[in-house]
Amino acid sequence: MAQHTVTLIPGDGIGPETSSAMQRVLEAAGAEIEWEIAEAGAHLMEEHGTPLPQSTLDAVKRNKVAIKGPVTTPVGSGFRSVNVALRKAFDLYVNLRPNISIEGAGGRYNDVDLVIVRENTEDLYAGIEFEQGSSEAAELIEFCASHNAGTIREDAGISVKPISVTGSRNIVKYAFEYAIAQGRKKVTAVHKANIMKHSDGLFLRVAREVAKEYEGRIEFEDKIVDAFCMNMVIDPSQFDVVVLPNLYGDIASDLCAGLVGGLGIAPGANIGKEYAIFEAVHGSAPDIAGQNKANPTAEILSACMMLDYLGEQECAERIRSAVRAVYAEGEHLTGDIRWATGSSKPACSTTEFTDALI
Ligand code: NAD
Repeated sequence: MAQHTVTLIPGDGIGPETSSAMQRVLEAAGAEIEWEIAEAGAHLMEEHGTPLPQSTLDAVKRNKVAIKGPVTTPVGSGFRSVNVALRKAFDLYVNLRPNISIEGAGGRYNDVDLVIVRENTEDLYAGIEFEQGSSEAAELIEFCASHNAGTIREDAGISVKPISVTGSRNIVKYAFEYAIAQGRKKVTAVHKANIMKHSDGLFLRVAREVAKEYEGRIEFEDKIVDAFCMNMVIDPSQFDVVVLPNLYGDIASDLCAGLVGGLGIAPGANIGKEYAIFEAVHGSAPDIAGQNKANPTAEILSACMMLDYLGEQECAERIRSAVRAVYAEGEHLTGDIRWATGSSKPACSTTEFTDALI
């Protein structure tokens, strides 16, 4: 196996615990990775005045490939999301989240095999917001009123939802190319075009145009997001590759994670044309942080996606088969999975799970 240098951002909360489990597993599987550790998180605010120091951005830039643990984002106020900042800084326009059933992981179904392809840079997550009571909000309210664009209450805060032809085309094309490369059959575009005609409507129009380029090779359908959620819960096996704008993609991927056993086993990747940052779907889980209780599977499977990206598929598959074996055996499972499976057996720690996997 070739030697690779990868930036590792352990993050905060359970991040350092799941990251060190991931490093141990990769080493045991023979992955030749030199880790360059970089920091991000709320704990850096005091010293650096930012949760994302320039040195971390430089480290990602240098190595082009990174894996990151979760980072806590204050709700409602405080600094903006580190994740959103990283996605913007490196134009990581794809958020790839495979949801595949693992026998013994407590999923509601045992035949889920779908991939969420979420647009990662636009939509309501673009971070264009105007605070309630600000002069900018007042100007926008006045603009809408004077242009017959609808009434916004004077005490409203406003978030802007930009969805572009370029952004939509890039993500839908990625979904089709991914489907072809992975031997998948169908792409489903999810939207709310019946209500938001100039944002979701545009996304759907572009998706239909792109789909024509793949006619005869990949099947295409579209679903309204609310109906999609219901269909997902009733029968997830009808979906294959699902492409969504940013916000729906975020929500739908947690829903999918719930169907296969929970956030503890859901991996993900942020991919751009030049850079890639791999990370689990879950957050920093403050309720269990520092207690050796976190399930490291999601970060380990994210590392497998990273190994695939680096051309080390054999090593990735060795780890995935060990994961399947540990779950099928059912002796060493963390608390989240014990809960999902309804088992009364004692939960094992992060370390015990990692030892079993190794
Ligand atoms: P969360 O994913 O951190 O936790 C939700 C629930 O799932 C909790 O009960 C938690 O204990 C459990 N859980 C999550 N991961 C687990 C794991 N690996 N093993 C076992 N149990 C696990 O979501 P939240 O509580 O909504 O968010 C907490 C913080 O994380 C927030 O500040 C949020 O902004 C941040 N967040 C960060 C990222 C990221 O950095 N990529 C993603 C999502 C949320």
